Amino acid sequence: MEEWKQLVRDTINTPEKLHSIFPSSNLEELQRVHKEFPIRINPYYLSLIEEPNDPIWKQVVPDNKELISTGFEDPLAEEHDSEVPNVTHRYPDRVLFYVNYMCPIYCRFCTRKRKVGDPYSIPDQNFEIGLEYIRKHPEIRDVIISGGDPLMLTDKKIEYIISKLREIEHIEIIRIGSRVPVTLPQRITSGLCKILRKNHPFYINTHFNHPIEVTEESKQACEMLVDSGIPVGNQTVLLRGVNDNPEIMRELMKKLLLIRVKPYYIYQADLVYGTDHFRTSVETGLEIISGLRGHISGLGVPHYVIDAPNGGGKIAITPNTIESFNEEEILLKNYEGNIYSYPSQPFFDEDW
Ligand SMILES: *Cc1c(COP(=O)(O)O)cnc(C)c1O
Ligand code: SF4
Repeated sequence: MEEWKQLVRDTINTPEKLHSIFPSSNLEELQRVHKEFPIRINPYYLSLIEEPNDPIWKQVVPDNKELISTGFEDPLAEEHDSEVPNVTHRYPDRVLFYVNYMCPIYCRFCTRKRKVGDPYSIPDQNFEIGLEYIRKHPEIRDVIISGGDPLMLTDKKIEYIISKLREIEHIEIIRIGSRVPVTLPQRITSGLCKILRKNHPFYINTHFNHPIEVTEESKQACEMLVDSGIPVGNQTVLLRGVNDNPEIMRELMKKLLLIRVKPYYIYQADLVYGTDHFRTSVETGLEIISGLRGHISGLGVPHYVIDAPNGGGKIAITPNTIESFNEEEILLKNYEGNIYSYPSQPFFDEDW
């Protein structure tokens, strides 16, 4: 059996098993939270936990605070932009295509708690419905295969989905959104890379949240993908107690560049029910961007985005670098806080 399949088989998915590994945890509490959003931690990701309440633990071990919440089931109104159950079509030229409800771990802060872990939320027989929607909409040129985690499917299913998409003439770009390079890097096999590399232009966006997650195994996984010609980007979620400070984020972005992963987005946490305790202030996010910009290469500075509630889409926000702006000049503030003037208008005159 392939190593990744063994890790999936040995996954911890009950409160009792988790409690036996961490006897200091409260079994009754785990049981209560598990009923709302299931526990799932595979032995690889579990091995990254160094002690209770560390940044890895917080991402996967249930917390009582998940039960007290003011959030929403579907804060981004993804269902509203879904004419068919497994495609969200919000932007003019690109769609999310949900193919799977399962992930190698269940992240306690997940935006798609309403789907993830629920086998009825994304049934296999819906593949065809989603494909048919994409076929019928020639304005779609970019498909993001999502879930759950699409790379939890077998090679055969992945190949089937991608080949069906490639048959559609108006589809130019195919992407996969997957945490597998972080949460189950053993899944990135040479067999899988062989399938993916036949389908360029093909992109992967993954999801590292903390420097501890950048291990030998995840490095190898990302390098195999990049060596297959697949650009790998990273989407981090800003999480209280996990990565909500500039030093940790700087270290994470530097480590990602070393394994040839390009930081793409930092997300302000969505208003999902049961995740209040993970959310930071927007100011914290802006301070993190200020702590990156100028301090490390522009390659390592992602866009900080808030996904607007009710389906407004991602909106990038940046610390204010404009001190003042009028017809003659713009006064700019650099990363050290020094002010520089630049002319607002070109010197070139049409009458010359
Ligand atoms: C994030 C997202 C996309 C992809 O956005 P990019 O900025 O192109 O990466 C597409 N559709 C929906 C609904 C999204 O939330
Ligand atoms: S891997 Fe992604 S989709 Fe799966 S539980 Fe984590 S955040 Fe949610």
